[in-house]
Amino acid sequence: MDECIFCKIIKGEIPSFKVYEDEKVFAFEDINPIQEGHTLVIPKRHAGNLWEMTDGDLAAVQIAGKRIGLAIKKALDATGVACLQLNGRGANQVVMHYHLHLIPRLEGGPPLPVSNWELKAGDMARIKAVAERITSALG
Ligand code: AMP
Ligand code: ZN
Repeated sequence: MDECIFCKIIKGEIPSFKVYEDEKVFAFEDINPIQEGHTLVIPKRHAGNLWEMTDGDLAAVQIAGKRIGLAIKKALDATGVACLQLNGRGANQVVMHYHLHLIPRLEGGPPLPVSNWELKAGDMARIKAVAERITSALG
């Protein structure tokens, strides 16, 4: 994709702080990090979101993310690593090239904004009805 910023990063047309690369995957530091070590793992083949990904590319990104996440944990002595992936403007996806965020929580650092939502019990009848709708949509 000519105008895609992450495709340009893969081609080296825009600079990045690369941490990993293989045949299918590229990973680099997010330049607006939620925490130090915030890393993005992307497929080399352009896909806008989860549903445009081939199964092979999806597996490759996830497997590389597993390895890079462990390296982040070791390098920064992280107490945990959130693996986050947004799809669509409604979910706050800004760059329309699939990317897996790896976001470490550092010792003594603030809680991750993406993982500390309040637990409030839902309405069980509604939860059951929604579960049935989703199951039906699976076909
Ligand atoms: P999302 O909201 O999931 O689409 O997140 C897009 C992420 O890409 C944000 O966290 C940005 O900080 C990051 N980002 C955008 N442009 C660049 C860039 N040139 N280099 C590194 N990270 C970037
Ligand atoms: Zn792209």
